[in-house]
Amino acid sequence: MALQEINLALLAKWWWRFKNEKDGMWRKIVWAIHHLDRSWSFIPAKVSIPGPWKYIVNINKELLKYGLDLSKRIGKEVVLGDGMDRLVWDFEDNEGFSVRSLIRDLDELKPHDENYVMEWNNWVPKKVGIHAWRVEMGCIPILLELLKRGIVVTKAVCPICEEELESTEHLVISCQFAQTLWSVISSRCKVSSIFAFSVKDLLDLHRFSYFPKRKAKAFNAVCLTTIWCIWRARNALVFEGKQININNVVGEIKALTFLWVKNRGKNRSLTWEEWRGFNFML
Ligand SMILES: [Zn+2]
Repeated sequence: MALQEINLALLAKWWWRFKNEKDGMWRKIVWAIHHLDRSWSFIPAKVSIPGPWKYIVNINKELLKYGLDLSKRIGKEVVLGDGMDRLVWDFEDNEGFSVRSLIRDLDELKPHDENYVMEWNNWVPKKVGIHAWRVEMGCIPILLELLKRGIVVTKAVCPICEEELESTEHLVISCQFAQTLWSVISSRCKVSSIFAFSVKDLLDLHRFSYFPKRKAKAFNAVCLTTIWCIWRARNALVFEGKQININNVVGEIKALTFLWVKNRGKNRSLTWEEWRGFNFML
């Protein structure tokens, strides 16, 4: 199962919600910001405004590659017995939108993209690199993955925030815990705000960091270790009931990466002070 499909399906849900939750405050805000008087489009979007909404709107281009047009899928209006118009999700069952069924359909429509080659970083232990690679491939036993494989899980919500379905992207990117962690990482490493939509984006962050080559590799080590530590914290919570403490996780990432970058990267002169401020030349 490629993560791309899960990601697209989760984002497609916002199209569905936009069309259905007419009274939602978030929808009114999106409408106020993105609506253009002179243009009609299925979902409003001002191309000049970057951000998550533009990204959500653009997923239709990705879905078209699968031969699936969201504006046609959702655009069917029916009149129900009570005389109310309602939108239906134009799939086989004509019921409401379901992330799960969309993932299943996308999975069938397109062979997995196996072309992505993760850059291997030997400054972190193999287990950390392999873990990131498995996360990218959607191969970690996360609740949504188990659900898709037909394994019965009693609770599919994220064990950390208990608000969203636990997907790989949710856990390492959009969960409040992950977001806070990435914002701490970005300010500590002095890079612009980390804005990722897929695990692949996180694995490629260093390529757009403008750091010299070895410093970019050190930054990549931080990103890989962050993914590793998110998983460890999640497991400690699920299996040992250990509450997550963001400061402890940040401390763990800092200490582990210092040790690894200094020793495994053979950067012997790197000091803790330099590492703490991410202020060094390698
Ligand atoms: Zn969460």
